[in-house]
Amino acid sequence: MGRFIEEWKKSHWAGRLGTKDEGQTVVLMGWIDAVRDHGGAIFVDLRDRSGLVQVVFDAADLEPSAIDVSKALRQEYVVAVRGMVRRRSGKPNPNLETGEIEIRATALSLLNRSESMPFQVTDTIDASEATRLTYRYLDLRRPPLQQALILRAKAAAIVREHFNGEDFIEVETPVLSKSTPEGARDYLVPSRIQPGSFYALPQSPQLYKQLLQVAGIERYYQICRCFRDEDLRADRQPEFTQIDVEMSFVAPDDVMAIADGMIAKLFGALRGVDVLLPIPKISYDEAIRRYGVDNPDVRFDMTLCDLTDTAKSSSFKVFSNAAANGGRVLGLTVEGGAQMSRKEIDALTAFVKTYGVGGLAWVKRQEGQFKGPVAKFFDAALEQVALGEMGARDGDLLLFVADSTPTVAQTAAGRLRAHLGQHLGLFKPDAFGFVWVVDFPMFEKDPETNRTAAVHHPFTAPLPEDLPLLDTDPLEVRARAYDLVVNGQEIGGGSIRNCDPEVQSRIFDALGMGKDEAKEKFGFLLSALSYGAPPHGGLAFGFDRLVSILVGTDVIRDVIAFPKTTRAACLMTDAPSRVDAAQLAELGISLKFKGD
Ligand code: ASP
Repeated sequence: MGRFIEEWKKSHWAGRLGTKDEGQTVVLMGWIDAVRDHGGAIFVDLRDRSGLVQVVFDAADLEPSAIDVSKALRQEYVVAVRGMVRRRSGKPNPNLETGEIEIRATALSLLNRSESMPFQVTDTIDASEATRLTYRYLDLRRPPLQQALILRAKAAAIVREHFNGEDFIEVETPVLSKSTPEGARDYLVPSRIQPGSFYALPQSPQLYKQLLQVAGIERYYQICRCFRDEDLRADRQPEFTQIDVEMSFVAPDDVMAIADGMIAKLFGALRGVDVLLPIPKISYDEAIRRYGVDNPDVRFDMTLCDLTDTAKSSSFKVFSNAAANGGRVLGLTVEGGAQMSRKEIDALTAFVKTYGVGGLAWVKRQEGQFKGPVAKFFDAALEQVALGEMGARDGDLLLFVADSTPTVAQTAAGRLRAHLGQHLGLFKPDAFGFVWVVDFPMFEKDPETNRTAAVHHPFTAPLPEDLPLLDTDPLEVRARAYDLVVNGQEIGGGSIRNCDPEVQSRIFDALGMGKDEAKEKFGFLLSALSYGAPPHGGLAFGFDRLVSILVGTDVIRDVIAFPKTTRAACLMTDAPSRVDAAQLAELGISLKFKGD
């Protein structure tokens, strides 16, 4: 394998060669993607990060050397080639950037061999996810994954340029830190110097970025890693990257305007999309009313109709019971949906049932009449709403969900709406729908523990007009919080914070946190707020999710170089793994397993 790499330098990127380079002598280095032996000549596709180029090995062109060309040209072997760029002798390949040219090789050096591959390096792949993750370094050779990493790097550069241009300072915050509640479990790191004590890995740099405002930094951002120990859904990772932002002397609109600018630049540069600014805002209440969910897909218009009042007097028990018991009856109009088959409607019924409602009621509007199993319950009042507010016309299908728990009915109807949007193709596949959802509730009841919890996090400021409700009616308090939603996915969120230590203490009280606990956990924050903390607020974006939307993949792992499985494991390095007894002893830790 010789001293070739010292003597020759890679002169060009394979995928960037073209007719402009005709006649040039080039040195290429990369992997052998494919070999076609045509008897007299061997044709090779040589791949490097930039793409592929065809190289022709013809014995007549090659300088004499010790190397047996046919043995060196094997898939995924690493080679260096010197040769001349010429127009293709055969037909141009329109599917290849470099399809009009080829390299006539004059010298070859084998830089390294490869075992036979566990899977092919191709755009599409049929190997299992487990195999791909075990050999992630080979999976990452595949062009779509390389493109995703390249786009990710470009996105990070655009983000930095944007914030730097707006006078923000990038500040790094600690990874070995103290717990910051974002609603998940902490990853803990044991301290050796203080056995029995633990650092928490940051769920976000929330408290540090607020302290940086007290410190007078005024405009902070960071692209940083965060850690949350949750039971993982398919699209979550235990460690993930955030674009984290905090600003002083701002109201919600100022923070959203800065974020708007970043979004417009990212989608403009990387997707060629002209994002109309400002991105529209709707209140949380309105989002729930119109769309049933706080992350609405605004790529299409269909909205929910609330029939609860009308349904109170209905002879259809499903409706009247839900209405009488404080629940909701919600309807959706599917234009032209009357042609849907029974099977399709049954599938929609099965879909809504997964959200906890008993079923799906429906009527079709055909030949000036309502038809279907529920039509007989359509009294004059319901007909009036159906024809009026729901806008039923001949050929439409009307769908209804009812439940005595409002959130169950809303979520089921909202998810059904989003599902119909996808299923019926109610928007252009390349459309993007951005919306800010603002004025979230400050608190919610955790259904499992029945305890009051912060919807965003406890450092969020209430709307000033709702402050009096903090002690009397906390669940009615709205927050100065905002989420950015694109295509029905939340990609970022934040809030104005409490800069008044007194208000912050009242929030800890509302959360049922005693004075001592508040002091122990957040004493440093309360203390900092008492030394002239400026009004401040910020937000954070989930960078992995944002990049996956820019790339156009649903799989968040595709935009992360070394992702973990849903069991939070790295199949390639085998992390997490056991450690030495000696290491544990140093940390003062002894292990006890369930069942010991
Ligand atoms: N710390 C919040 C989060 O990680 C974002 C913010 O409030 O700025 O979701």
